[in-house]
Amino acid sequence: MLEREKAGNVTDTKIEKASNIQTEKKRLSVVVPCYNEAATLDAFCAALTASFQGISKKYPHISFEVVFINDGSTDATLDLIKTAPQTSGLSVLAQVRYFSFSRNFGKEAGMYAGLTAATGDYVTTMDADLQDPPALLREMLSILFSGQYDSVAMRRVSRKGEPPIRSFFARAFYKLINRISDADIVDGARDFRLMSRQMVDAVLSLQERNRFTKGIFGWVGFKTYWLEYEHTDRIAGETSFSFWSLFKYAIEGIVSFSSTPLAISSAVGIFLSFIAVIFMIVLLVRAAIFGDAVAGWPSLMCTVLFVGGLQLLGIGVLGAYQARTYTETKKRPIYIVKEEGEIEQS
Ligand code: UDP
Ligand code: MG
Repeated sequence: MLEREKAGNVTDTKIEKASNIQTEKKRLSVVVPCYNEAATLDAFCAALTASFQGISKKYPHISFEVVFINDGSTDATLDLIKTAPQTSGLSVLAQVRYFSFSRNFGKEAGMYAGLTAATGDYVTTMDADLQDPPALLREMLSILFSGQYDSVAMRRVSRKGEPPIRSFFARAFYKLINRISDADIVDGARDFRLMSRQMVDAVLSLQERNRFTKGIFGWVGFKTYWLEYEHTDRIAGETSFSFWSLFKYAIEGIVSFSSTPLAISSAVGIFLSFIAVIFMIVLLVRAAIFGDAVAGWPSLMCTVLFVGGLQLLGIGVLGAYQARTYTETKKRPIYIVKEEGEIEQS
């Protein structure tokens, strides 16, 4: 079970007492999946630089690494990944590397690639659109340094600015998945999460191709501190997730972390068979007593259609699991890197 804590500040004195982090050499890695983020990268690099400067003041022994993943962008994202770290001064403070995919593999694949490449003692993933404010990194780090937690995760407290219908479905999804799976998935949790090396290795040890990271984070366990924050709009560009793609993502989450839908379809099958037997007995008795009048065709049709529909639904549910098994057994790579490199430290 994940430990849920109320948001608040771990006092600095406690942190200093609990660890000798002030003198220990540690490395912080930031993984940034980017898909068509040309409009945001300059500002992002500038904000990250400022955040690193702040951290350096408090913890001078921390070194930084940034891993950009270009997830098959169709705009100038890759060019900006190569130039923005230098113009913003980010490459002076941090070792900046990038991996560019051969096509768009999705954010999950991007995060997996970045976590695999990251070498830090502490690793976080972060959106490039500044919806995950780099300024919060320092506070997140200090909580991890207290030694009491393995990860610090961000949780948005309001769904302001989101279409009401989307909020409704999102809430319903979180309620449902927590009821039917053993992965503890928190409503409003972002993928912005600072983790210890031990937890990152655990996340990477789950080798599945259909990756539902929100579930994986919960599934691996460890102690998580939840920091609440106000959600902000992206600074530029547009979200890559439509309602439909989020819906598919939700189905992915359910199929990856719960087999309850299979159990439900069996239960419905058993229930209907039971009803059918009772119905048969009633009909037999009625025919024996009153004779067999041909009547009730409409109700018969309704029953046939209803049961037929349920059977197809059951097969669909089964098929969803079967399809996941199929993609897992093919063992295709989660992503393909076309180009990789390191930004010169200047
Ligand atoms: N992203 C990605 N691949 C994709 C879609 C998105 O790497 O196929 C990245 C995107 O560049 C951003 C992060 O994932 O850094 C979150 O995406 P977005 O801001 O569109 O999602 P939202 O914040 O609206 O959930
Ligand atoms: Mg975003």
